[in-house]
Amino acid sequence: MLIDSFNRQVNYLRISVTERCNFRCQYCMPEKPFSWVPKEKILSFEALFSFVKVCIDEGINKVRITGGEPLLREDLHKFIRMIYDYKSDIDLAMTTNGYLLKNAALRLKNAGLQRINVSIDTLKPEVAYRIAQKDVLVQVLEGVNEALRVGLKVKINTVPMRGINEGEILDILEYCKVRDMPVRFIEYMENVHAQVDIKGMKSSELLAIIGSQYSFCDEGFDGHSPSHYYRLDDGYVFGIIEPYNDDFCSTCNRIRLTAEGLLIPCLYFDEAMSIKEAVEQGNIADAALILKEVVRTKPEKNRWGDADGEVSKRAFYETGG
Ligand code: SAM
Ligand code: SF4
Repeated sequence: MLIDSFNRQVNYLRISVTERCNFRCQYCMPEKPFSWVPKEKILSFEALFSFVKVCIDEGINKVRITGGEPLLREDLHKFIRMIYDYKSDIDLAMTTNGYLLKNAALRLKNAGLQRINVSIDTLKPEVAYRIAQKDVLVQVLEGVNEALRVGLKVKINTVPMRGINEGEILDILEYCKVRDMPVRFIEYMENVHAQVDIKGMKSSELLAIIGSQYSFCDEGFDGHSPSHYYRLDDGYVFGIIEPYNDDFCSTCNRIRLTAEGLLIPCLYFDEAMSIKEAVEQGNIADAALILKEVVRTKPEKNRWGDADGEVSKRAFYETGG
């Protein structure tokens, strides 16, 4: 079992399998990065899998594949199948922008994937174009339909932004509600890679908008999720992630691995250790030591509250959000 210095059990690994993306979301990667990590520096699925096995053997029982856009990585379903075959009762999920989902959904489901989060910030094609800088909405919505059809559990992630999708909060809630898909509104997190003029909406504003149409009750936090949950009168539950709040840090159970092998104990910290050399040399004992050291040094709280106005340098497309 992996226990950190604050007595939290770490059982959740998020793997960003690529930093590359086919969208240019204004809040994440508005322009092509100055330099991509060269392909040869990216860990192969075999190398990643050898580390996943170490993690599972040490007590990780929840794995999420993310990116960049994970579906850009060829044969992703084979990687999912490796993990599933190693431990079929693992909670195996993925976060995607949904653009390539329609053709991939069945393959992913058959490989052992159970759940996906799809990022949908708008239901208007022209707004989707403005956010992703590409005509994406029809294809994304078709991807969601196909994922539901093949039996994947689908959640929607939405980043509410002033003057962009602020008028669509209720429409997105309704779109999710009628399909029985949970939605999580994620407060925009400033970072140096994002478009400078993006202004995120705070949870208080979102709750006021939702409250104008529905009555709901505060369900608080549930387990290890960073989402603050609310329940509408008809039982539908939605979540809001408030990164400036550190309420969820006391139950944080996650670590993150980037495509080039950096193991990160907290999204909001620059500290990280590389497992690349260890796994590429087949040195599993060293990989296990690095894992334990990263868990040991996991900070008590995220640094957003005390950042002194400093904007995070960490790119969401590298860490997988
Ligand atoms: N490309 C996939 C996608 O968009 O779902 C997976 C990677 S993306 C980095 C993971 C999540 O991070 C998405 O739901 C996205 O909306 C969110 N995200 C990216 N940049 C963000 C930011 N600056 N603030 C809040 N959420 C962000
Ligand atoms: Fe790509 Fe996802 Fe970032 Fe958008 S949020 S640019 S889809 S990685």
